[in-house]
Amino acid sequence: MRDASSLFISDLHLCSTRPGVADLFFRFLNLQASHADALYILGDLFEYWAGDDDDVDPFNASICHALKNLTKNGTQVFFIPGNRDFLVGPAFAETSGAILLEEPHLITLFGQSTLLLHGDTLCSDDIEYSRFRTEVRDPAWRKAFLALPLAERKIKIEALRQRSENEKQVKPASIMDVNANAVDDLLRTYNYPRLIHGHTHRQSCHTHIVDGRRCKRWVLGDWDCNGNYLACDESGLGFHTLIAS
Ligand code: MN
Repeated sequence: MRDASSLFISDLHLCSTRPGVADLFFRFLNLQASHADALYILGDLFEYWAGDDDDVDPFNASICHALKNLTKNGTQVFFIPGNRDFLVGPAFAETSGAILLEEPHLITLFGQSTLLLHGDTLCSDDIEYSRFRTEVRDPAWRKAFLALPLAERKIKIEALRQRSENEKQVKPASIMDVNANAVDDLLRTYNYPRLIHGHTHRQSCHTHIVDGRRCKRWVLGDWDCNGNYLACDESGLGFHTLIAS
């Protein structure tokens, strides 16, 4: 039996050096996602994605294969790229069966307008990151980067990750959270939907009152020792925890 439900996850940061998280993900696909109508992955599924030609990597291939099986079994998979895996492209969509979505993406769930995004665009206080994002999301940058040999791309990504890790140590926590005005602007632009996003790893449900309208903002958590997902059915939205075995 398939439930009339949609599930939301983000920030798993899957990589071969954290096999426990991948195992938890495979179990989630088999036990929970296989009963859902749709699985929405809101970015940073992978620790990084160097380009679709990286799907020959056995770890990446195993993830794509598991997603493909889920779609064959009847659960639709939607994917909004995050800052770690924005280089996914049509070949990834083909091998994984996932449908790539542009963000922000508006859907209607049980009659409620719901806006989906990764969440990094809301962290506008981090000027340095916003600048970097604009640069790498430029189609010309993407084309030039993807034209480099895979090994060279991986070295460059590794260096960027190291730099971002170092910067995270010194950046105040507040600038790595969402900017309240950026949230308000987005809610206004999309006619006061509810929001679902990840990126900040600060799992919570917030209420925003914008122009007298009350909007909920659901923030997905990251996956570490345990996993988590947000489920939506006719009774509403709720967080669930996946305990590692
Ligand atoms: Mn992110």
